[in-house]
Amino acid sequence: MMVVNPPKIIGVGRNYGAHAKELGNETPTEPILFLKPRTALLAPHQPIVLPKGVGRVEHEGEIGIVVGRTLRHATRAEAEAAIAGVVCCNDVTARTLQKQDGQWTRAKGFDTFLPVGPRVVGGLDWRTLEVICRVNGEVRQHGHAHEMAFDIPFLLAFASRVMTLEPGDLILTGTPAGTSELQAGDLVEVEIPGVGILTNSVQAE
Ligand code: ZN
Repeated sequence: MMVVNPPKIIGVGRNYGAHAKELGNETPTEPILFLKPRTALLAPHQPIVLPKGVGRVEHEGEIGIVVGRTLRHATRAEAEAAIAGVVCCNDVTARTLQKQDGQWTRAKGFDTFLPVGPRVVGGLDWRTLEVICRVNGEVRQHGHAHEMAFDIPFLLAFASRVMTLEPGDLILTGTPAGTSELQAGDLVEVEIPGVGILTNSVQAE
């Protein structure tokens, strides 16, 4: 069962310096926002499907933030107060297409490319959040919220100056270094201590 039902899903590119670097990019001076379609959402324990002929597909373990109230031109304090909960997310990305297309809609938009779960947890201190991503039990990514180029209240306030944030909106706060290729048969886990572990298998189309 899907654990979120967001009106929209906003992603943030290159929000950890080490990940930007591993892809040969600079850390941006302002957050890079993108939208991910709702149809990419995937429940825990459902398989990520690798589309045929798209080249390399990678996991991106991320801290997901569920917005609790409407935000428009929010201050930092208003944004912080609007954090309703935290959830584990996997911003699965077709890396070859991302580079080829020059923008990210196709690379990040395939069905099943957004596993979210296992539950939304409120009342956590966003400053102390961390995210771990394992493939077949091996740790590939381990990031901390304090390493973000733009922190969580800043991201919400920034996004709210572009588009109104609505209750239930999901913000993907960027991925730490260590993204790697997914193969059919892999098992991917994204863990946020205090939230739980999101587990998905990977299968070929
Ligand atoms: Zn991402």
